[in-house]
Amino acid sequence: MPNYIDPHIHMTARTTDDYQAMAAAGVRAVIEPAFWLGQPRTCVGAFQDYFSSLVGWERFRAAQFGIRHFCTMAINPREANNERLAEEVLELLPLYLSKEGVVAVGEIGYDDQTATEEKYFRKQVELAVEFDLPVMVHTPHRDKKRGTTRSMDLCNDVGIPPHKVIIDHNNEETVKEVLDRGFWAAFTIYPKTKMGNERMCEIVKQYGAERVIVDSAADWGVSDPLAVPKTALLMLERGIPQSHIDAVSYKNALAAYGQSGQFDESAWLNPAPIDQRVLFNGNTVLRGGQEPVVQKDSNIIE
Ligand SMILES: [Zn+2]
Repeated sequence: MPNYIDPHIHMTARTTDDYQAMAAAGVRAVIEPAFWLGQPRTCVGAFQDYFSSLVGWERFRAAQFGIRHFCTMAINPREANNERLAEEVLELLPLYLSKEGVVAVGEIGYDDQTATEEKYFRKQVELAVEFDLPVMVHTPHRDKKRGTTRSMDLCNDVGIPPHKVIIDHNNEETVKEVLDRGFWAAFTIYPKTKMGNERMCEIVKQYGAERVIVDSAADWGVSDPLAVPKTALLMLERGIPQSHIDAVSYKNALAAYGQSGQFDESAWLNPAPIDQRVLFNGNTVLRGGQEPVVQKDSNIIE
């Protein structure tokens, strides 16, 4: 079975069934970007607890199902519009950007493309330069083409090299400019179809696989945590070369986020065996006297 990476998924919002299905489909590693929770947070402590859970409980929970969990840290564009809060979160970020398994600053960028969003987008790109980390850019859903161009202009202006920047949520309108300008072009596969994504196949046929990345961006909304393996299988059916499929569903994400020095295959190719007897601060993923999974060998799925 091929190995996959889902380099953009909000596992905090997902269930243990999702983890099990993803592991069974070959997803070995995930990156969970810090994002918003569907309603605005009211104090910096809410961000601190969220950031701590991304490097703590959620990483533990993933490992209990055989998946390596990494994350990115940022204040997202939407909540960046609360300037008082954004300032406080910015003070907190250095502490979390230097933690193990944090592979980028993100997701940052534009939502409504306001001046305040731009201010904190810029400050966080500067933080990425300071911490020598890649950046994950969320491009806006409204007025996307202009927002994508502006995002790349801002990155150039700050002086972060394009190969350190992953521009996410691309579409047919934005992909050419992103690739021409030397940035990574990530694509979020939304669950319009049950069988992967035809449009993604067409994009890879037209533009090839260099610097192209596929992700699910699955969260608390309607989304599909199996989008990466499903799209890879559809690409195979559509005659796309295996080397291209490996690139967009595994290797490119590894190369892009590997630039952090925190995202290494050795973490998941030879993982510690699953042991569900282990606790996190006294807490377990098991309920009601369930038998814990205890693997003798991590290569044997039980
Ligand atoms: Zn996201």
